[in-house]
Amino acid sequence: MGYGIPPLWGSGMRKFYRLSFHRRKWLLVTFQVFLKIVFQMSIPSLQHPGPAPDLPGASPPFSANRGKLLLAIESSCDETAAAVIDRDRNVLSNVVATQHELHERFGGVVPEIASRAHLERILPVIDEALRNANANLTDLEAVAVATHPGLVGSLLVGLTAAKTLALVLNIPLLSINHIEAHIYACRMMAGRDVFPAVGFVVSGGHSNLYDCRSPVEFELLGSTTDDAAGEAFDKVAQILGLEYPGGPLIEKIAAQGNPSAVSFPRTFLNQSRLDFSFSGLKTAVLYAAKGTPGSRTPPVPLTPKRVADLAASFQAAVIDILVGKCDQALTQTGRKTLLVGGGVAANSTFRQRLADLARKRNVEMIVAAKEYCTDNAAMGALGWELLERGITSPLDLDVKPGLVRKRPVETDRSQG
Ligand code: ADP
Ligand code: MG
Repeated sequence: MGYGIPPLWGSGMRKFYRLSFHRRKWLLVTFQVFLKIVFQMSIPSLQHPGPAPDLPGASPPFSANRGKLLLAIESSCDETAAAVIDRDRNVLSNVVATQHELHERFGGVVPEIASRAHLERILPVIDEALRNANANLTDLEAVAVATHPGLVGSLLVGLTAAKTLALVLNIPLLSINHIEAHIYACRMMAGRDVFPAVGFVVSGGHSNLYDCRSPVEFELLGSTTDDAAGEAFDKVAQILGLEYPGGPLIEKIAAQGNPSAVSFPRTFLNQSRLDFSFSGLKTAVLYAAKGTPGSRTPPVPLTPKRVADLAASFQAAVIDILVGKCDQALTQTGRKTLLVGGGVAANSTFRQRLADLARKRNVEMIVAAKEYCTDNAAMGALGWELLERGITSPLDLDVKPGLVRKRPVETDRSQG
């Protein structure tokens, strides 16, 4: 008994190995991030300068921002990001490390690669955000982190970093809904309160319409039943032989094409339900590009002109659907403000069509600036709204990777 593995250690290891593979992986990732943060406190801006000296005439560390700033962390998908924001919602720093180059050759985000890359980047990114803001850890009043929805391994890296900082610094931990933060990016743009409003998030993973009563009360009005709009852009880009991420390339090529060249379906557009479906459209593009299975008619050759026409016709269909559903959501809620965020909102044609809609309906429209459309941590300023309402989270907070779904979809059989 006195030899070999100590009994406590041995039984711990046995318990550990009895856990499922995924649980073991989570535990290891959590432990790894925790250790990294604790040991890497030697990075200058991650050093805790200790309690402020209260002796008269004692020298600094002094900072005008001591205990007044919010650190926001974002790692829900393939961007590792951190931002420092003051109580007036001024963004003092906003650092984003993208992983596009790692996922490009797979044509989409590979979860395992994403979480490993987050693990490597999370501390340098936090460090850079603090340094760019000329801040150190004692300047933080709270730490906010995206906890849902997203890729489980990716979310876990950000959450563990945030928890460790909250624990070590004894400051509140704030749990951010990544999709709601995309809408809050519009509040950051406006520099003032913009609620109540209809909120629309159109990104790689989501196409969600919300009735936003306040910055912290969002009711989901509709979402996609299959692919998200950005995902459709990415998949269609792949069909057309374009690189990942497809949205910006489709937009560029579509500018040379004819949007009426092919008439693609506008799913649900004539129904009052506020849901989306893009998989039928994606298949229609596939058939138009490669030919319909079983058909004797060969497809039109995929010349650069044909690719541009397909890209333009696809983009026109997606934008018709997105703008049409915004219009319906504004009618159904009676709201006079429309907030739009997410990567697809970087599309200039979409922005123009939204502006036309807002003018026609006489509503105020705020679209997040392009750098705030794709994933970033500045939108985690939503954490201030939570803190001001006392909505903080305990240290046993967990990630919620799953997609947000509303009540079962009601089909409107009366129309289209
Ligand atoms: P997620 O967080 O869900 O991955 P992001 O908010 O980071 O999504 O947005 C990325 C998505 O936005 C990708 O699907 C990309 O193709 C799309 N996108 C980016 N720029 C454009 C654009 N100019 N036009 C259309 N889609 C775009
Ligand atoms: Mg996003």
